[in-house]
Amino acid sequence: MRLFSATIATETNTFSPLPTSLEAYKEGVFLRPGEHPTDAPRMCTAPLFVARRRAVAEGFTLIEGSCFAASPAGTTNRADYEFMRDEILSQIKAALPLDGVLFGLHGAMVAHGYDDVEGDVLERARAIVGPNCVIGVELDPHCHLTVKRVRLADITILYKEFPHTDVVERAEDLLTLVLRTIRKEIRPTTSLFDCRQIGSYPTTLALMRGFVDRTSAMEGKDGVLSVSIGHCFPYADVPELTGRILVITDNDKPKADRLASKIGEEFIAMRGRTAPDYMHCDEGIGAALAFNGSPVVMADPADNAGGGAPSDNTTILRRLVERNADSAALGPVWDPIAVRLCFDAGLHARFPLRFGGKVGPTSGQPMDAEVTVVGLRRDCWQSFGPTQVPLGDCAAIKVGGVEVVLISNRTQALGLELFRNLGIEPTERKLVVVKSTNHFMAAFGPIAQRVIYIDSDGPLSRDYRKIGYTKVLRPIWPLDEHTTPCLIA
Ligand SMILES: [Zn+2]
Repeated sequence: MRLFSATIATETNTFSPLPTSLEAYKEGVFLRPGEHPTDAPRMCTAPLFVARRRAVAEGFTLIEGSCFAASPAGTTNRADYEFMRDEILSQIKAALPLDGVLFGLHGAMVAHGYDDVEGDVLERARAIVGPNCVIGVELDPHCHLTVKRVRLADITILYKEFPHTDVVERAEDLLTLVLRTIRKEIRPTTSLFDCRQIGSYPTTLALMRGFVDRTSAMEGKDGVLSVSIGHCFPYADVPELTGRILVITDNDKPKADRLASKIGEEFIAMRGRTAPDYMHCDEGIGAALAFNGSPVVMADPADNAGGGAPSDNTTILRRLVERNADSAALGPVWDPIAVRLCFDAGLHARFPLRFGGKVGPTSGQPMDAEVTVVGLRRDCWQSFGPTQVPLGDCAAIKVGGVEVVLISNRTQALGLELFRNLGIEPTERKLVVVKSTNHFMAAFGPIAQRVIYIDSDGPLSRDYRKIGYTKVLRPIWPLDEHTTPCLIA
């Protein structure tokens, strides 16, 4: 038995002012056969990682392909996408005959000329491997679950958790179902229900937690093989941006249809109740400063690099400084030039620095302040689950009573090391501000006495009605009041 695995992945914010080129993949994940690390999977490469570990014991040969993944940002350069895609396709051709293909994709990648990159990859891969090869795909729930890609794959599985702490477990599920299909123990049959809604669904909140636990418990019983909840990725102007439910049964289409519809109706009934309450900037700062207990963790989802934002908006920081907040830490602010200037100034130096507010109108104005350099470190990192996320060279500066972590590799706040590696102990601060939507909760949730979510003037507005969609199919909630959810595959 012969399996092939590869990755091509990013989360494309088509509204982002930061184009994505091959350079961004080289800074992220750019691994050719023979270069794959053995310690932990990198972004979206869990299927390859898991298959490699299980190959000998479960009697198959794994042919390792290339894995390319970039941090979320704007649309990928067309020639660069085609270069990476064609490299993987030529590896598939060279690996024939194949019984199975495992793709670790993200699912919200857009390249110039390709609104549905994953559908394009699967269409070309299917043409090479033929109809009998079993294709399995792992996706992030912040994906565009298009009809095309769902039809072209035999098995599609999404992560269930947000924060995404179950990437490896879902890759294990995917490999198990692919192997059982190849061995003719099961016949996966898929149904897709379109909920016609845009939303945010952290599984750290009770309503979504219960929904995920309930639907997960259906798996492995009564012929139900897998249930996936597609959240959607709201910051992309593509036709099939919407929340969808994907159910896979063992050769029972009516059952898959019934279950996908039932779960879909439940998901629709949760509209407007799945995201946390967002405060305005000043309201949130007031609530944090007045709270009796520490640390208060305050999130700035609108400037989350994990959603393609620059992570250099200055609004919350400016108000903290203006209000004389003390014992506060904020990060990460992406500003490689300011980091360079801090290294040039040296540790403990006090000097006038302009930082933040650079990349676009939604970055706000740059901060101009007398700052003290309180931390400097080359090649910094933070952890997210088993993965070490590189931050590049980093500097910590103090502005009034606020310590700010400046980073060189644009990424969101994930691990406590973001602060600790620069000598800032987040548990000893009154207020910790993180630029992240919800992944920060895995590490910062346990230390927080209170969590406050802000809707700042960063580019990822929490009010989807403010986003300038032109291609998204209508009607869709909350842009439209009345929608027509239905089974679509
Ligand atoms: Zn995601």
